Amino acid sequence: MPEIVIKNVSFSYAAQNARPALDDVSLRIAPGSFVGIVGHTGSGKSTLVSLIDGLGKPTSGQIQVGTVTVDAQSSPADLAQLRRHVGYVFQFPEQQLFAETVGQDIAFGPTNLGWSTDRVQAAVQEALKLVGLPAAFADRSPFALSGGQMRRAAIAGVLAMKPAILILDEPTAGLDAAATERLLTNVAQLHAAGTTILLITHQMDQVARYADQVVVMNQGHLVKSAPPREIFADPAFLAANHLNVPAAVAMSHQLRDAGVKIDPALSIDA
Ligand code: ADP
Repeated sequence: MPEIVIKNVSFSYAAQNARPALDDVSLRIAPGSFVGIVGHTGSGKSTLVSLIDGLGKPTSGQIQVGTVTVDAQSSPADLAQLRRHVGYVFQFPEQQLFAETVGQDIAFGPTNLGWSTDRVQAAVQEALKLVGLPAAFADRSPFALSGGQMRRAAIAGVLAMKPAILILDEPTAGLDAAATERLLTNVAQLHAAGTTILLITHQMDQVARYADQVVVMNQGHLVKSAPPREIFADPAFLAANHLNVPAAVAMSHQLRDAGVKIDPALSIDA
C-alpha cells in the first residue's frame, strides 16, 4: 500500500493568478488512512487531490505516491504512473456514465488497463458487489437506474480498477439520507479492507464518523492536519476556517475525550 508524501507543493492555474490555488502545502498520508479534506469553496481541496491523481503537475514542490515522485519537470508519462494507484470519483460522477449497459460502463477502465476479458468481467462483478448493486444490473441501461444507483454504478467503474487510494469529491451531494448512508457504509468497508480514502466533504458529521485525519484547507494553504477530535475541539478555529460543525458532533467528541461512552443509537456521529 503506497504512502502519499506532499512536499512544499504550490500550484497556479495561470501565471497571472494573484493567489496560487495551492501555496506551499506539505502533507503525509499513511497507507490505509481515512482522510477528510475540508475547507471553504475555493480553498484548494479539489486542486490538491487532482495533483495526487496526476491530473496536473505541481508548479513547485514534489508529490510522491508509493515509489513514484512527480514535480514541475515531470512528463505526462510520469503523471500517468502516479495515477496507477489512485481512483478519483469526481463530483456527480453519474454525469460521466455513457455506455449502453452498467456492465460496459464499469468495464471501461479495467479494459483500458489492458486486462483480459475474464479479469475485466470478474472485476465488474466484484465492483457491483462492493457498491451493493445486484449482479443483474450489469445488463441494465445506466440511465434506467435511480439517482443513488447511478452514483453507485459510476463509483463501481472506479473501484473496478482496484485503486489502493480512493479519492471521493463530495460523494453524497444530492443523495437522500438512505442513499448517503449506504454509500458511506460502502466507503467504510473499502477502508476496512485497506484502501486509503481521501474524502472531500462539507459534511462535518461524515468527517467525525469516519476520518482518522482531517486536512483543513484555507485559501490555498493547509492550515491544519490532525485527528478529528483535535479539529472539532476548537470552535474559534472552526469558525475561522468556515467549518460548520453541528453542535452535537463537536460535543460528542468532547464527551468521548472525557471518557464518556455514548450510546451509538443516541449519538449523531456514531
Ligand atoms: P475547492 O475544491 O476547495 O473548492 P479548488 O481547488 O477547486 O477549491 O479551487 C482553488 C482555487 O483555484 C480557487 O481560487 C479556484 O477559483 C481556482 N481554480 C480551480 N479550478 C480552476 C481552473 N480550472 N482554472 C482556473 N482557476 C481554477
